[in-house]
Amino acid sequence: MPELSWQSLQAADRAAIWHPYASAHDGPEVFPVVSASGVRLRLADGRELIDGMASWWCAIHGYNHPAMNRAVQAQLETMSHVMFGGLTHPPAVKLAQLLTSLTPASLDRVFFSDSGSVAVEVALKMALQYWYSVGNPGKQKVIALRNGYHGDTFGAMAVCDPVTGMHHLFGEMLPRHLFAPAPNCAFDGPCPDSEMVAITDLLSQHHREVAAVIVEPVVQGAGGMRFYSPDYLVKLRALCDAFDVLLIFDEIATGFGRTGKLFALQHAAVEPDILCLGKALTGGYMTLAATLCNQRISRGISDGEAGAFMHGPTFMGNPLACATAIASIELLLSQPWQRQVANLNKALGEGLAPAAELPAVAQVRTLGAIGVIELEEPVDMQTVQPMFVERGVWVRPFGKLVYAMPPYVMGTEDVAALTAAMVDVVAQL
Ligand SMILES: *Cc1c(COP(=O)(O)O)cnc(C)c1O
Repeated sequence: MPELSWQSLQAADRAAIWHPYASAHDGPEVFPVVSASGVRLRLADGRELIDGMASWWCAIHGYNHPAMNRAVQAQLETMSHVMFGGLTHPPAVKLAQLLTSLTPASLDRVFFSDSGSVAVEVALKMALQYWYSVGNPGKQKVIALRNGYHGDTFGAMAVCDPVTGMHHLFGEMLPRHLFAPAPNCAFDGPCPDSEMVAITDLLSQHHREVAAVIVEPVVQGAGGMRFYSPDYLVKLRALCDAFDVLLIFDEIATGFGRTGKLFALQHAAVEPDILCLGKALTGGYMTLAATLCNQRISRGISDGEAGAFMHGPTFMGNPLACATAIASIELLLSQPWQRQVANLNKALGEGLAPAAELPAVAQVRTLGAIGVIELEEPVDMQTVQPMFVERGVWVRPFGKLVYAMPPYVMGTEDVAALTAAMVDVVAQL
């Protein structure tokens, strides 16, 4: 590429790149970023944007963090990758120890993979292979929630909300699962038994064919940014036990402090059988995910017909990614992250509050380091995205949702600027 000018980058991008959830030919403008540091993205024309997205939940420490950079460099000079079949290495061992010590005690086995979607694939395969292995091969369906989001590969996509996930586009290739209504009980309130009626009916009718229930605990992320009562999870665990169905928690978005607890499941003190982690696992530096399970699953599968779990990505347990994840988790735990998240919660709440009065706004809500303005109508990205950039912030709405989940290190003044820009843009709609 001859030069890194704004125009040449955009033109070369437009000629060859397909962006996520975008048209290849008439997509909206993309903005060239040339570097990032702290909570700021630097564009090719020199402008800086306050990053309200943490690169989709990931960059919890901000960008270009010295401690993170050191960890990557040290591992790079030691060993960047080695195959994981038949070999192991210190970064994977240490990361697995960290993850099993931080998550519920029953989850004592870690399966590494490359991305969140694959961690969900692994979870679903674990659930199915478990039931096959223990002599119950009829249990092949999954119950998922409306408004859920679990990733973009086929297995993961099949448990996403069927409407927003546009399941009809993929026809017969997509397995048909069962969907329960999204929980409709506020985060800070109880979950009345009436909330559980539909999913109880599904379980009582179908439990013989249901392998697992999969949910995003407490926060439904990309499927609607909805928050719900932890009490729902307590009741769901009891139901799964009663109907002998496994419970999968997808904490790919909520993990590592975003909701105010290290893991969202801690709001309810509920232990799933399988737990998916990703996104903030490496502090946004590298792609890595993990699926944890309890001994019921690991023994069931290992003592079964195959004697092995039938999965093994090429880049499984990549040492560079594992070392980065260790550094990110140690950095997080060495900081007063609960206070940072609580401060962010307060600042997001105060900054977004004026939006509640605006005609275009249906609701303003916050939880942990997440702030959401839900609009009455979907936004037009083509017009709205440049409005944020002009105001010096990076916010990427989807549908009716204008939301922020900043890096935990964002200072009060930057949060104020970020939220002011969000309110201002929404006021123009
Ligand atoms: C992002 C996300 C995924 C998918 O992760 P990828 O790394 O994008 O494959 C799965 N589940 C949840 C809850 C997510 O937020």
